[in-house]
Amino acid sequence: LVEINGVNKWYGDLHVLNDINLTIRKGEVVVILGPSGSGKSTLCRTINRLETIDEGEILIDGVPLPEEGKQLAALRAEVGMVFQSFNLFAHKSIKDNVTLGPMKVQKKSRKDAEDEAMKLLDRVGIANQAEKMPAQLSGGQQQRVAIARSLAMRPKVMLFDEPTSALDPEMVNEVLDVITTLAKEGMTMVVVTHEMGFAHRAADRVIFMSDGEIVEEATPEEFFNNPKSDRARDFLGKIL
Ligand code: ATP
Ligand code: MG
Repeated sequence: LVEINGVNKWYGDLHVLNDINLTIRKGEVVVILGPSGSGKSTLCRTINRLETIDEGEILIDGVPLPEEGKQLAALRAEVGMVFQSFNLFAHKSIKDNVTLGPMKVQKKSRKDAEDEAMKLLDRVGIANQAEKMPAQLSGGQQQRVAIARSLAMRPKVMLFDEPTSALDPEMVNEVLDVITTLAKEGMTMVVVTHEMGFAHRAADRVIFMSDGEIVEEATPEEFFNNPKSDRARDFLGKIL
């Protein structure tokens, strides 16, 4: 579904993505782990073209990422992204946050968009908050709205970049539970996280990045029980 072939990217002298090759199959849950600054966010952001690449290619369903314009909006619908900071529209209600994309980009009628929004808000457990403003919700609830908003565009793949790291501990699980349910329903997803329990439980495959490179690619069992590289052992030693 997502093919990343020989991707390189530099920020000045910094080789932030170093020959990245990665294929993400339909229905697969790929968890990306690695120390701060290793390029995890940059990699995610290249997949929906929030960042450009200097070399290589990224294909979604065999189609190269578009350069600009209309196709870029379509790409952003196909590749949903949820960030650490929830990035909701602060001056719009929860429901409007979810209906805006489908109405604007996909030209859905308000009625259809609202029906779909209410279903999605119900799925993430906050249908009763639909008329509120983002600031009236807890961080965990806001993040669940952000997930519903992405899902409203019916993405082929979802990217989660540390979706729980801005949350108070008691709200982490309510968001991870939503992501886990999506995974079980067959959503293809890439999740950058520091939640090792979640990574272990939910991942089909773990990618370990360090200094812009993919250093290890393994099943969660292999990675957590028997990391092969010194860099991965060092990383796990520090966080487990
Ligand atoms: P973290 O776990 O802290 O989120 P990360 O693995 O997501 O880290 P990235 O955010 O991808 O790391 O950053 C990788 C490197 O690229 C870092 O050294 C960072 O300082 C650098 N970097 C990121 N964005 C830019 C930018 N716009 N311009 C210059 N350097 C950048
Ligand atoms: Mg990051």
